Amino acid sequence: MRNMVIIGSGPAGLTAAIYAARANLNPILVEGKEPGGQLTLTTLVENFPGFPEGIMGPQLMDDMKKQAQRFGTEFVTGFVDKVQLSERPFRVHYGGNEVQAKTVVISTGSSAKLIGIESEWKLMGHGVSTCATCDGFFYRGRKIAVVGGGDSAMEEATFLTKFAIEVNLIHRRDKLRASKIMQDRAFGNPRIKFHWNREVTEVVGSKETGVTGLKLRDVKTGNISPMEVEGLFIAIGHHPNTEIFRGQIELDEMGYIKTKPGSSRTSIDGVFACGDVQDPVFRQAITAAGSGCTAAMEAEKWLSH
Ligand code: NAP
Repeated sequence: MRNMVIIGSGPAGLTAAIYAARANLNPILVEGKEPGGQLTLTTLVENFPGFPEGIMGPQLMDDMKKQAQRFGTEFVTGFVDKVQLSERPFRVHYGGNEVQAKTVVISTGSSAKLIGIESEWKLMGHGVSTCATCDGFFYRGRKIAVVGGGDSAMEEATFLTKFAIEVNLIHRRDKLRASKIMQDRAFGNPRIKFHWNREVTEVVGSKETGVTGLKLRDVKTGNISPMEVEGLFIAIGHHPNTEIFRGQIELDEMGYIKTKPGSSRTSIDGVFACGDVQDPVFRQAITAAGSGCTAAMEAEKWLSH
């Protein structure tokens, strides 16, 4: 029986592990399918405080892991496929194993939705990005594209015009899903060009050259045309990784775990959530890390009562 099991190894989970381990809780952390989380899909991270020259995303995650290990966090590799949160102790199943714990910290994050073409994966972090706040700065004076027609796409396209000289908004229909105010802001921005009824069928480039262009398909005629851009931002939504918790813990209408205001407490006493799995708004490594700290401190307090 453990004091704490942490599910997920992004900045939220690893920060919770550092705090819990330093509080002598001997946490066990199950790393999940994508050890290190979304930051391992990026290259240079320039907005995490403490690194004046920036730090590579995978390196940052590796360092956080070493820091958590140094204080005694036990890491296990595996994907959690079942949890039992209705009885004490809580039970977490991963890769044929089971761990029992008094508290659970859920930090399974969210995943950016992707278009579903091979080349977007190949060039992820090399000109393809799912985060304008993280990577917009690298596109100063360049021509780029954003795909999507919702609020995220409008927000990211508008934000990116601070850096890029031209932002090509590519949408698969001829109507936006975004709210009127966000649409109006984007329509009124002279740096944003709209391309309707278009799908990205290929991202052109290599890891060495970065993105050099796109191939777009007109969904009405089937015609393929090229577009010269140096970056592609995919803004077609995120989904929180909460499938295994569905039916056991309260989720909001978008599937994010509900936490009490200003806290990481969930609808189940002794279960805490931190990071992107409970945050559809900010989704930053630093906010995730901050909430991981909160979760560990709240769990520690809960255990001592
Ligand atoms: P969303 O509203 O679900 O919009 C996703 C967009 O991506 C849609 O336009 C959709 O096209 C398109 N799309 C989906 N899959 C695609 C694919 N495979 N290929 C090409 N296009 C694809 O997601 P979101 O924009 O991330 O917003 C999520 C929620 O957060 C919304 O409730 C939104 O209001 C909220 N949000 C609010 C703000 C704000 O107020 N500041 C900012 C961001 C997000 P279709 O339209 O054809 O389905």
